[in-house]
Amino acid sequence: MQDSKASKESKQYFSRELLSWYEQAKRDLPWRRHRNPYYIWVSEIMLQQTRVDTVIPYFQRFIERFPTIQALAEAPEEDVLKSWEGLGYYSRARNLQAAAQQVMERHGGIVPDNKKDVSALKGVGPYTSGAILSIAYNQPEPAVDGNVMRVLSRYFLIEEDIMKTGTRTLMEELATSLIPPGRAGDFNQALMELGALICTPKSPQCLICPVMVHCSGRLEGAEERLPVKSKAKPPRPEYRLVALVEGDGAQAGRVLVRRRPDTGLLARMWELPHIPAAAEPGEGAGLPDGPAMDRLAAALGGAGVMAAPVGALMEAEHTFSHIHWNMRVFRFHQADGLGELAAVAESAAAYEANGAGGAVSPSASDDSAEYRWITQDDMGELAFPNVFIRILNRYFSSI
Ligand code: SF4
Repeated sequence: MQDSKASKESKQYFSRELLSWYEQAKRDLPWRRHRNPYYIWVSEIMLQQTRVDTVIPYFQRFIERFPTIQALAEAPEEDVLKSWEGLGYYSRARNLQAAAQQVMERHGGIVPDNKKDVSALKGVGPYTSGAILSIAYNQPEPAVDGNVMRVLSRYFLIEEDIMKTGTRTLMEELATSLIPPGRAGDFNQALMELGALICTPKSPQCLICPVMVHCSGRLEGAEERLPVKSKAKPPRPEYRLVALVEGDGAQAGRVLVRRRPDTGLLARMWELPHIPAAAEPGEGAGLPDGPAMDRLAAALGGAGVMAAPVGALMEAEHTFSHIHWNMRVFRFHQADGLGELAAVAESAAAYEANGAGGAVSPSASDDSAEYRWITQDDMGELAFPNVFIRILNRYFSSI
């Protein structure tokens, strides 16, 4: 880093020009119309990993539904997840609600205005605490995320890997030193705004950038190369078999869904039953349809769900931060005849005896998951991960 070369003058120029640009270029975003710490907090949590355009309608609906910290703290979790449906990274929603409960219990419903207490709230890391303290309370705290690190790397020609903790610390110190007295909230937002609108990851628009004159990265022709960022591990592929079980008799027109366990990935959300395509993660990509359906039928049977395979229906995929699900969806029909029941039960017993261990994910054969039959209308009340919404909507619109 050419920190010694980051002269006082260059820093002052950066802060001054950035602020004056922000005053005329800032976007009119719903959470910027107030200094309500709760609104700022919600928006910052939503904006993690999610684009502004996507967040706006979610933010508005969320605030309408949960207008105060108390309303959020007291809401049924299902409602909170439902309001978050489609945004992904659902632990953010759960943590937000848990933190709202902490604010009610410990701080009388007021978002704390000091670093120690804000940082102690569930799901509030250094970036979010800096954003809340600076934007809501105008305290000189840095709010350094990937966007900000990109801008600072370029302007100050910082060659350190931004994935390293030490680099983040360095960036936080630098960002703090740039905050003009009394302007923390605007300055941090200006920095974020520059990263979002001008100093973008690809093709930064240096020619219209308010700080281009002293930008060391641009002067060195390094703007496209910076920031230095070591590659994150790619998500691990997982091949999964999914059962879309159509109801029969009293359940005709309905589909079987299951609720995930209370902890872990996508906790307590609804989904179609699914299992790994093979015992080992990463295997099972090429399992033919016949054995795949047998495996699913057996796993369903092991969980007490009697269903006969109909055929392959569709493929779907979904990427989480660390896992990539490749899903093959098979259609099943609820089996209520005695013969079918016996056959499925026998098959399930053989499956378990073979140690396949893949009873309807994620529980084993003593699956105590909550199951229910739903219509498309019922989807409006239950929170599903995106990938299952896509599968179910495609299915319901095809019948
Ligand atoms: S001049 Fe270019 S590289 Fe430098 S801060 Fe502006 S947009 Fe980013």
